[in-house]
Amino acid sequence: KGDLMKGKKGVITGVANHQSIAWGIASQLAAQGAELSFLHLPGMERRVQPLAESVGAKAIVPADVTDDASMDTAFEAIEKAHGTIDFFLHSIAFANKDELKGSFVDNTTREGFLRAMDISIFSFVDCARRAAKLMPNGGSIVTMTYLGSERAIPNYNTMGVAKAGLEAATRYAARDLGPRRIRVNAISAGAMKTLSLAGISGGRSMLAQGRAMSALGEDTSMEGVAGCALWLLSDLGLSTTGEVVHVDAGFHIMGLASDSEG
Ligand code: NAD
Repeated sequence: KGDLMKGKKGVITGVANHQSIAWGIASQLAAQGAELSFLHLPGMERRVQPLAESVGAKAIVPADVTDDASMDTAFEAIEKAHGTIDFFLHSIAFANKDELKGSFVDNTTREGFLRAMDISIFSFVDCARRAAKLMPNGGSIVTMTYLGSERAIPNYNTMGVAKAGLEAATRYAARDLGPRRIRVNAISAGAMKTLSLAGISGGRSMLAQGRAMSALGEDTSMEGVAGCALWLLSDLGLSTTGEVVHVDAGFHIMGLASDSEG
C-alpha cells in the first residue's frame, strides 16, 4: 500500500479474468490510491464486475474496440464518471487461433490479418485519441507488447507483426501527444499464463523457454509488470515517453541458451 497514485483517475481496459495482466496492474494502481474505471469486452461482465467492484471502480462499461458506437458510449460514460483522467491502460490484443500456429507465410489470411491489426493496433490509436481528449492537464498512456515484435518467435506469427505496429504506434503517439504533456509507453512483458497465451499454439513452451532462457532464470512476475506500469503511469515516469520497456526477467538480452559444458 502507498499513495503514489493518490488523486489520479484513470481507465483500465483488457480485464477478462483475475489472470489478466490488466487486472494485475489495476490492483496495484488501486493499492496506491488510484481512482479507476474499467472498459471490458461485452459479455465479460460476470468476471469483470466482482474484480472491478473490489477496488471501488467508478464505472464498469462494456466496449468493443471494433465498434465505434460502443466506443463513443463507453467514453461518454468515462467522462461522466471522472470528468478528466490522468492515465489510460490499453491491454487488448486478438488474432484468430488458426493464425497463431505453424507457418506464418502459409496460415495468414487477409481477413484474419486485418482483424488482428484492427483489434491489436488501431484500437490503441483510437483509445489514445479518445483518452487524450480527457487529459487537459497531461497524462500517461501505457500499452502491452511482446518480444515477438522484434524477433521471429514460433507460432506468434501475425501477433508479432501486430506488436511491431503497436510499438511504432507508441512512438508516433508519443511524438504527437508530447506537446500536450501526455506520455505514451509500451511494456514488453515476458510470457505470462493468461487467456491470451492459452490461445497461442505452444504457449506453454513460450513460458518454459522464456524462463529457461532468461537472465534471472525465472518467470516474468505480475508484480514486476505491474510495478513497471505503476512507474510509467505515475509521476515517477516523468520524462519517459515513446519507450518500450522490457519486463521479461531479461529474456530479450540473451543470445544462446546456457550450455552445461561451459
Ligand atoms: P487477456 O486475455 O486476459 O487480455 C486480453 C484482453 O483483450 C481481454 O480482456 C479481452 O477481453 C480483450 N479484448 C479482445 N478483443 C477485444 C475487443 N474487440 N474489444 C475489447 N476488448 C477486447 O490476456 P493478457 O495476457 O492479459 O493480454 C493483455 C495484453 O498483454 C495483450 O495486449 C497481450 O498481447 C499482452 N501481452 C501478453 C503476454 C502474455 O504472455 N500473456 C506477454 C506480453 C504481452
